[in-house]
Amino acid sequence: MKSFVKNDSGFVCAVCGKSVEPLKYSSRDHCPFCLCSLHVDIMPGDRQNECGGVLAPIDVEQNAKKGYIIKYRCIKCGQEHNNKAAQDDSFQTVLKVMNKTYQIQNYKMKK
Ligand SMILES: [Zn+2]
Ligand SMILES: [Zn+2]
Repeated sequence: MKSFVKNDSGFVCAVCGKSVEPLKYSSRDHCPFCLCSLHVDIMPGDRQNECGGVLAPIDVEQNAKKGYIIKYRCIKCGQEHNNKAAQDDSFQTVLKVMNKTYQIQNYKMKK
């Protein structure tokens, strides 16, 4: 059973510090500017994961049906996770991830 909790609220990105507007057509699950996400969900939108680490984009795949799929790895626990790119994601950042030239800005890993 898949449970999907709709949780489309604006937030301030923990990585780049920009304020992010709600997505409107779907749940916002990552920052459209730096593409980072937080490891807070077990099932999409449930906010039940206690890890709370930053999910850093490590790769982008093109899917004929779904569009761009962003692959993430949690910098805290190492778990990998995929998210669909949103319509308003920074395409420049998507390209950087594809070209493996992306680096998370201004973020220091907690030990
Ligand atoms: Zn951000
Ligand atoms: Zn994690």
